[in-house]
Formats: sequence, C-alpha cells, structure tokens
Amino acid sequence: MALQQVAAPCAHTLGSTYRKAKNSNSPIEPSLVFWGRRERVSAASGLLSLGFMLACPLLVVFVHVCIRDFDASVRDAVCELAALGALDFFLKYTPLPTLEAGLGYIGWLLFQALLSIALPGKTVTAPPTPGGHRLSYRVNGLNSWIVTLVAAVTLSVIEVLPLSSVAEHWSGLVAVANVYGILATILGWTKGHLAPSTAEDRRFSGSLFHDLLSGIELNPRFGRWDLKLYQIGRVGMNSWVIIDLSFAALQYQKTGAVTSTMVVAIALHTIYTVDFFINEDWYLSTIDISHDHFGFSLAWGPAAWLPMVYTCQTQFLASHAVDLPYWCSAAIFLIGLAGYAIFRSANHQKYLVRQTNSDCTIWGAKPSVIESAYTTADGGTHKSLLLCSGWWGIVRHPNYVGDIIFSLCTGLCAGSTHVIPWLYFIFMATLLIHRALRDEARCLAKHGVFWAEYCRRVRWVLIPWVF
Ligand code: NDP
Repeated sequence: MALQQVAAPCAHTLGSTYRKAKNSNSPIEPSLVFWGRRERVSAASGLLSLGFMLACPLLVVFVHVCIRDFDASVRDAVCELAALGALDFFLKYTPLPTLEAGLGYIGWLLFQALLSIALPGKTVTAPPTPGGHRLSYRVNGLNSWIVTLVAAVTLSVIEVLPLSSVAEHWSGLVAVANVYGILATILGWTKGHLAPSTAEDRRFSGSLFHDLLSGIELNPRFGRWDLKLYQIGRVGMNSWVIIDLSFAALQYQKTGAVTSTMVVAIALHTIYTVDFFINEDWYLSTIDISHDHFGFSLAWGPAAWLPMVYTCQTQFLASHAVDLPYWCSAAIFLIGLAGYAIFRSANHQKYLVRQTNSDCTIWGAKPSVIESAYTTADGGTHKSLLLCSGWWGIVRHPNYVGDIIFSLCTGLCAGSTHVIPWLYFIFMATLLIHRALRDEARCLAKHGVFWAEYCRRVRWVLIPWVF
C-alpha cells in the first residue's frame, strides 16, 4: 500500500478526517505532516491553559487541606470554602514552605540527579522523534530506585532520618514541590526559546499559556542528561513508594499497627513502580517520552501532582485505619494483580512485535499485523507495525484497561466512606479515556490509512461492545 498521510492542523480536522476514514473506503489525502500536535491554538484555548495551570496547584492544595484539616471530608472543606470565600480559604489553609522541607527537597532533587548521572545502566535508543532525531538514554532507573529505597530505610534504621519524616513534613513538602514544579515549567519554557536541544522538535502554539502548559521542547537536555526522564522517572516515580512507606510508618506510630489495606496499597504501588523501572527502555517509546512536550504537565505533574494524588490512599489510611477482613484485602490484591497482568502483557505484546519485526508468537500464534509507514519532518520515511492480535485484537487500548482496573483496586483498599482515596482511580480513568481519544487522532495523523485499517479490524476503543 502506498504511503499516505494526513495533515494534523488541529484536533477538529483530525476528528473529522478520522470519522471519514473509518466510515468510508476512500483513501486519505496525502500531505506533509508534522504529526502529533496542533500548530496553532486559539486565544480561548490559551486562556483555558492558564486556567488549568492555576487550578491544578490549587486542587493539590485543596486535597491536602481536606486530609490535614477536615478529616479527609471533601464536604466539610467545601462548606468552609463556601463560607470563607476562595481567597480567604486559600490564604488561611495553604501550606507554606518550611526550611526543613526546602532543604530536604533540594537534597532529594540533587540525590536523584546524582543517581541518574552516576549509576550504571545500558544505553537505549528511543524511536525517531517527529523531527527525525533518535535520542539515546542511559537506563538506570531500577538501580536508582533500589539505591533510593535502601538509603531511606538505612537512614531510618540508624536513626538519622525516620521513615515517617516525609509524612510529618508533608505540608511543607507539598508547598515546596509545587514551587519546584512551577520553576521547572518556566525553566523548560525558557530553554525551549533560548537553548533548545533539538530545534526541529520544538513546537510553538502562538499562545504563551499553551506553550507553558504543553511545552515547547520534546526532549529537553543538558548535554546528554534528559530533563523529562529525570522529572518523571526519578523525581516523580522514585518518590511514590517512599511517600507510601512514610505514611505507613505514621500509621504505625499512631495506631501501633499497619493495616492489611495499607500493605496491599503499598504492594500494588511497588509492583507498578518496579515494573516501570524494569521496563524503562519500553517507557522510552510511550507517549510521555515520544510525543508529549515538556511543559507544565510533565514538569509540575511528576513533581507535585504525582506525589500528592498517586499516594492518596496511603495518606488517607495513615489517619483512617480501614482494616478489611484478610480475605477481602487478598481479593483486592489479586484483582489488582490481574489488572497489572493485562497492563503488562499488553504493553509487552506491542513492544515484542515491533522489536522482533513480528518474528514472534502472541498467545501461541504468529501475530497478525498491519505494515505501516510514516514520514518525519526531515522527509525520512520509517516503517512500523500495528499489532492486530492478542490483547490488541480485542480493543485498541488494552493496556489502559489493565491500568484502570489496577487503579480501581488501590481505591478499594480504603473502603467507600470517602472520596479522597479514590482520587487516583478517578484521575487515571479520566486521563486514560481522554488519552485514548487523543492518541487515536494522533495515530491517524501519523499512520494515516494504516490506522484507519486497524480501526476497521479492531472496532472497540476500551470495552468490547460498549466503547
Ligand atoms: P501506549 O503505550 O499504548 O502507546 C500508544 C502508542 O502505541 C501509539 O501512539 C502508537 O505509537 C502505538 N500503537 C498504538 N496501537 C498500536 C498497535 N496496535 N500496535 C503497535 N503500536 C501501536 O500508550 P501510553 O504511552 O499512553 O502509555 C503507556 C503505558 O503507561 C500504558 O500502559 C498506560 O496505561 C500507562 N500510563 C500510566 C500513567 C500513570 O501515570 N500511571 C500515565 C499514562 C500512561 P506509534 O507512534 O509508535 O505508532
């Protein structure tokens, strides 16, 4: 089949092109493509970006205040907000940075930077960027996670820094992490303008606010040190289980025991984190690294949102010791494990097929694939494969389904009395449904008729016969 591509000027055009491609057999017009992003956004879209960047830190603060000051009751916090008015509410309750939290956080950032630079790891080359660059990464995330964990436990055992100190200084850390996330966003934006690593992979939307939110550079680097991988894979992911353990230590301090639900929540988070690091080379081909530019979402998100929202269950359990019967905790764990198994095997199938050029077996049979091709901005043509069997023959985003089941189980650990510990599930479900739709439009722009053919073969996005 001849290589044909679709222009990607805006989401609307993509949406209509997509519908057209799906509903007819007519070929899609070929044109020059810089697949992936809208080139220009409207002023309204720019203002929405500003609103989003203002709302997210306030939401993080609000969630923290709910847990700290309102016994995790969203209703009570909302009543107070309504009574005081938003300005007075946030003036009264917003956590402030403290010296201890500031120094501790700077130490954390430097320690993670040191580990990412100094620890050994294999060098992996990521898929071509839209600008035609193939960047290599030192993949040493698992080593850095192990060293971080051993360091945290050792410092606690020798009584230099108790494991519970993160939880005890949580207010100050929430404040500092927000400030750092905003500074990292501004750094990324400034670097994108003044000293880009790969100028061809920059994107300017015409809106300052949209550029800040969605980023200018795709993979900003200082020398060979990659800022995006550091921010997500070190500052963010490495903090997850450490924060969990700290809140478990706090629960122990308060109640003299650690509940089975706390153990299950931490076990699930640990499996997810270790999986992420074991498969770090796979992560280089995901949307985060390959397609999303380094703006507020990927600079502030891993610094402030991830630590606050991904650990909402353990923060909640530290002060609300929900203790389910053991069989119940075990069932939640097993369902979570099943979700993880779908997530992992779906991601593995896709990775394996592309790595082996489909010379492999999926569920005991030769994989069914569509041979695709796409162009990059340098005019280069690249071949690719779209897997149509295994999990990818049932729905078009099976890995998201596994992830959503998994996050549901982390919420179940905290029972059903409060909304707060369900935030991670709500966030993941919203993010992944939105991402599935966004990815569909992008894949159509990149793979053109080949993607349309995939949609014809595999009809469902996430749930067979439903969606
Ligand atoms: P994917 O790993 O599914 O990557 C999507 C890309 O895969 C597409 O853009 C396309 O890229 C390629 N692709 C799509 N369909 C096929 C197919 N049938 N055969 C071969 N290649 C295909 O998504 P993400 O990068 O969003 O997520 C990766 C994982 O991370 C997921 O499991 C997700 O659940 C998880 N995740 C977790 C988050 C968290 O915070 N915990 C946040 C976001 C994601 P190409 O351009 O190469 O063709």
